[in-house]
Amino acid sequence: MDEADNTGGAEGHRVDLLFPEQRLVFEHAQGTATLQDVPNAPAGFRRYKEIQAEGGNAAMLVIPNSTLIRAAKTYVVDPGVAMQGAPYSAAVASYGVNPFHVQDVILTHMHLDHVGALVEFPGRRVHVHRIELEAPYSTFQRSLLETCDVVELDGDEGEIEPGLRWMLTPGHADGLITLLVDTDDGLVAIASDCIGPLPEYFETMSLPEDFGGREVLLEQWRRIRELKPALIIPGHYPPFRLDGDGAR
Ligand SMILES: [Zn+2]
Repeated sequence: MDEADNTGGAEGHRVDLLFPEQRLVFEHAQGTATLQDVPNAPAGFRRYKEIQAEGGNAAMLVIPNSTLIRAAKTYVVDPGVAMQGAPYSAAVASYGVNPFHVQDVILTHMHLDHVGALVEFPGRRVHVHRIELEAPYSTFQRSLLETCDVVELDGDEGEIEPGLRWMLTPGHADGLITLLVDTDDGLVAIASDCIGPLPEYFETMSLPEDFGGREVLLEQWRRIRELKPALIIPGHYPPFRLDGDGAR
């Protein structure tokens, strides 16, 4: 075990937010791109849709929640968007963990906003589902894996180490996995983009009729709720807690 030993509970694993989600939305017109003043990520998503509905050219830079799991090994989950300043390595260091001692990265799926900052973690072991590796949209992202030691996950569920499990939760991406981590504060579900983009969808267990993958996603949400996680970390809005009955 590494120096992460001195930071967490004796038995349970620890999950910390490495870099919190952000949405930067721009309205573009003839050489100007105006950053929209939105208070949070859901508001950013709504503004993005609004600009498009008005016939405008909307641009959105989306940074997902990136997390650090400290278990027997230390894992970065979804490194995120490649940015200047190596913010993810610095975020690892801010928890007292030497980024070079992080040998394992887990990708919930292969969309570029979750994978790009892998450039900060070259040569690591990367755990990702086979379906994502074979997905047509991951062609470019796979080139980022060339220096890495890829651990292919396969099937519907599995264990990365005791207390750190995954289950296949398709709908947003066919091979998207939700991570289930046993911590001293209860079960943490890192659901990534399985849950989103607006909090009220999961709260009310409903999605717009024309939402892609609607039925499949709602089924995954029921499965996640049945596990009664204490904390859920979605891909693109802040982590939230469920009460003891799995309601919110
Ligand atoms: Zn995403």
